[in-house]
Amino acid sequence: MTNELSAGIKRYVEQAKELGEARAELRRQMRQQHFDTIAVHGMYGVEGAFHCGQGGIIEPMFPSTSQAYRDADEMEAALAYLIPTWCYSRIHNPTVFFLEETLALLETYGCSFDASGLCTSAGMAAIKQAVEPLLARTRDGHEEINFVSAAQVYGGTFQLFNLRMRERGAVVRWVRHPWDTASWETLIDENTRFLYGEMPSNPQQACFDLAAVAEIAHRHRIPLIVDTTIATPALLRPLAWGADIVVHSLTKTVGSGGFTIGGAIVARHGLTSKHLPDEVKADYATWLKLWPFRDSGPCMSAHSAFFLLNDLRMLRLKVAAFSANTMKVARFLEGHPDVERVDYLGLPSHPLHALASRYLRLVDDGTPAFGHLMSFVVKGVATDARRVFDGFRRIFRATDLGRVKSVATIPAISTHQQQGEEGREMAGIPPTMIRLCVGGEHPDDVIADLAQALARL
Ligand SMILES: *Cc1c(COP(=O)(O)O)cnc(C)c1O
Repeated sequence: MTNELSAGIKRYVEQAKELGEARAELRRQMRQQHFDTIAVHGMYGVEGAFHCGQGGIIEPMFPSTSQAYRDADEMEAALAYLIPTWCYSRIHNPTVFFLEETLALLETYGCSFDASGLCTSAGMAAIKQAVEPLLARTRDGHEEINFVSAAQVYGGTFQLFNLRMRERGAVVRWVRHPWDTASWETLIDENTRFLYGEMPSNPQQACFDLAAVAEIAHRHRIPLIVDTTIATPALLRPLAWGADIVVHSLTKTVGSGGFTIGGAIVARHGLTSKHLPDEVKADYATWLKLWPFRDSGPCMSAHSAFFLLNDLRMLRLKVAAFSANTMKVARFLEGHPDVERVDYLGLPSHPLHALASRYLRLVDDGTPAFGHLMSFVVKGVATDARRVFDGFRRIFRATDLGRVKSVATIPAISTHQQQGEEGREMAGIPPTMIRLCVGGEHPDDVIADLAQALARL
């Protein structure tokens, strides 16, 4: 980049200002809309439809790898990040942009502050991208970097934190009972870089007092990162409770149609961290996108964004229906003689029901709703659970969740196999536990399938 901007480059920068202002205005307008309207329209309005060509009412899919420039000035301005650009789809893509913007709007619904989104190839890539810069060495390279996480996390996250991050010299400190707020603070010291938790966790549905834990994080001037894959913004928007960064596996409930893997990071502007420079904290998700993410390539494809946008539109209604179905199924299982225990946050018998009822509420409606993840423990030994599991005729046996179709897995032999007996015990996963995610079928038909499978005992 030359020091003096040429007249040609200046012209492109001027034009880009107009585009930036138009986008900011549309974002302002969309922030006034209801949740469902944002989910349906996002940042693709009537006017934008004509800019994108043809006036198609649905966001077009742009599978192109790269964007062409009119001349050398435009190319130079774009590659110096002086103007918004699609340049190369490892960094930016218009279809992915529509999804990122919609997610950022949904996660800040009703908030007075702003956030930016970054979509990734998978949920795991989102978590890895979100935490890595926070674990960078800042001093002489000998400090003992650590971070504090709820022990009840997704199996892949457990491995990422326990193995991959340790290989890089960052040690995870597990909070065994995250619902015990004071226990977080006992693990924090001056080398703690962030706090992390799932709300609720997969598969145990652990919860913690989000606002209180955010307050602890900020007292130590570190960020709180929350994975709300299971809740989705239809039930919980952690940024509104003080969290700094939200991560998602869009593969699950957001992408309930089941066509693609994907992830997202949504970070509030001006997040708390005593370790990151101010210009990084100002807009963490965009900084990630333009620098570390660009340099490693875990981008989402336009095809995936296209499917996910489509799946996102009816999110609130979908989550409401899934939640109601799951409640009915959970009540049935709770009354079944061959079931030792049912874990569903929606049941008053669940020890975390009161805490969950405070945080998990259907947006724009306010009534508590608990999503479609539940688990139950079959009476007997591991082989009994396997017999029930193998008896399902309608429910799919798959290491999956969040689907419009009911799916089930045995966590001890699938998602949580590799973390070993000790890790499973710490996370509270017995070999007789079946994780069930109730879909959009009529709940009575799901109940009938469960009843005939349990009758095999
Ligand atoms: C599935 C899952 C992930 C990982 O997401 P992928 O899209 O499979 O990479 C992370 N967190 C939670 C809570 C999950 O359920």
